[in-house]
Amino acid sequence: MSNAWQPPRLQFADGSDFAVRHVWCVGRNYAAHAREMGVDPDRQPPTFFSKPAMTMHQQQHIVLPADCGRLEHEVELVVLLGAGGRHLGPIQWMDRIAGYAVGVDLTRRDLQQRLKANGLPWELSKGFDASAPVGELLPAGEWTPSDDCRIRLAVNGQWRQDDHLGAMIWSVGELLARLSAELTLHPGDAVFTGTPAGVGPLAFGDHVQALIDGLPALDFRVSAQ
Ligand code: MN
Repeated sequence: MSNAWQPPRLQFADGSDFAVRHVWCVGRNYAAHAREMGVDPDRQPPTFFSKPAMTMHQQQHIVLPADCGRLEHEVELVVLLGAGGRHLGPIQWMDRIAGYAVGVDLTRRDLQQRLKANGLPWELSKGFDASAPVGELLPAGEWTPSDDCRIRLAVNGQWRQDDHLGAMIWSVGELLARLSAELTLHPGDAVFTGTPAGVGPLAFGDHVQALIDGLPALDFRVSAQ
């Protein structure tokens, strides 16, 4: 019996694609969001967790189980690696990036909090089907993150999250240095770099627009299965 599994393929604007190998995420990388989650922001080493590669997609209609509980939005800058390595230094990481995208790290918050409170892994609150929507990818040569880039998210036209990439506690380069100090990064790895304050619930039928200055917008609706 053969194994016919294929990695999810994300699209660049020019029609080329990006095969996803693994999705890394960073927890609490904006001070105001750390505070809203009840944690003191500081420069302790960043927290990393994963989502399965198959959670990443560019669908504009996300269908979730009706009983998924409190679903929350987290808008994030997503970095897509075209090459990997270990112990990436302050310059090396730049030429490993194939592209960037706007992403939303969908989270089952009530499940996450319940698992955390019991000291259990909260994998299932983050790694469920369709939990990592991203917009169209932009090649790294056409855009570079800068401190004054605005990152924001609206639900049904109302702004909920609004900050700047300069508010990240750990920069993209610092995150890749930290992560590659622990393990080998590979082509096809994607990194969700953390969310600013203002995370909140989504209801079925909601329309989500996520924007980072200079990147293609991410736009989707959620509905119940
Ligand atoms: Mn997140």
